[in-house]
Amino acid sequence: MYIGRFAPSPTGLLHIGSLLTALASYADARAHGGKWLVRMEDLDPPREMDGAAAHILRTLETFGFEWDGEVVYQSQRHDLYADALGSLKNRGLAYPCYCSRKDWHAAASMGVDGFVYNGACRENIFRLPETDADKQPAWRIKVSDEILAFDDAIVGRYAQQLARDIGDFVLQRADGFWAYQLAVVVDDAAQGITHIVRGQDLLVSTPRQIYLQHCLNLPTPQYAHLPLLLNRLGQKWSKQTLAPALDCEQKEMLLRQVMTYLNVPPAPEVDNVRDLLAWTVAHWDLVRVPRAAIQTES
Ligand code: GLU
Repeated sequence: MYIGRFAPSPTGLLHIGSLLTALASYADARAHGGKWLVRMEDLDPPREMDGAAAHILRTLETFGFEWDGEVVYQSQRHDLYADALGSLKNRGLAYPCYCSRKDWHAAASMGVDGFVYNGACRENIFRLPETDADKQPAWRIKVSDEILAFDDAIVGRYAQQLARDIGDFVLQRADGFWAYQLAVVVDDAAQGITHIVRGQDLLVSTPRQIYLQHCLNLPTPQYAHLPLLLNRLGQKWSKQTLAPALDCEQKEMLLRQVMTYLNVPPAPEVDNVRDLLAWTVAHWDLVRVPRAAIQTES
C-alpha cells in the first residue's frame, strides 16, 4: 500500500518549484498504484495570503491533478496536535521555554538550520518568567545525543546529531501556533502516509520528524527529497525570491518543463495536460530524478 501527499502552505501561490513537487509526488504515488492526498498546511495565519488555499486547489485542478479524498486543512486539526503535545508532556519529553529569542540567540551556537537552543529551560522547567507571570511559554522537545540517519531515495544517506546540529526544537510557539515539525508528523501518521516526496529544502527537517515519530510511536515513511529549482542568481525559487505564480495559460509548457527537470522522457504531442500527467506516470522512475539543484531558464 502506498499513500503519498502534496502539502502546500497557502503563504503564496504555486510556482514552478511547487509544480515540480506536485508532479513528482503525484507520479511516484500513481506509478505505485497508490493514493495521492492533498493537505493544506494553513497553520500560520499571519504568514498566509488571502485566497491562496482556494487558488492553489484550482491551479492543481487546471494542471490536471486529481487527489484522493477530501483536502485536509491543518487549521482544523488543533486537537490532534494538542493530544500529541500532551503525550510528550506526560512522558517528560516536552518542556515549557520562557526564553525570549533575543536572549537565547545571544548565547547560542550555529547549527545546521539556525541557532541551537542552549537548553536553558530544560533543567529548570518550573521557572516562571521574572517580569510577566502571565507570559505563555513555547513548548520544546528534549532531543537526544543519538545520531539519526535515514536513507533518502534521491539524496542517499543523511544524518544529524540533533543535540549538536539542531537543539531542543519548538513544538508549539509562545503565541500558541503549532510548529510545522509537530503538525507534519502528526498528520502524516494520521493520514497513513507511507511515502513522502518533497523538496530538498525540507531535508534538514527530516531527522527532527523521524525523532518525533520515534517519541510518539509512529511509523517512519520513506522519504525522497527532490532537487531544488534555482533562479538565475542561484537562489531557490520561493515567495521570498519572487517566484512568479504558475500561469495557467502556459500549463502544458510548464508541465513539460518540470518533466524535463525530472528527466521524464519527452512526451509526444498531446490533447491536454492529463495526457502529460499520464505519460509522466507511465514513464516514472525515481532513479532518473537528479539529485543536484537545477538552474531554471528565468
Ligand atoms: N508545507 C510545506 C511547504 O509548503 C511542505 C511540508 C512537507 O512536504 O512536509 O513547504
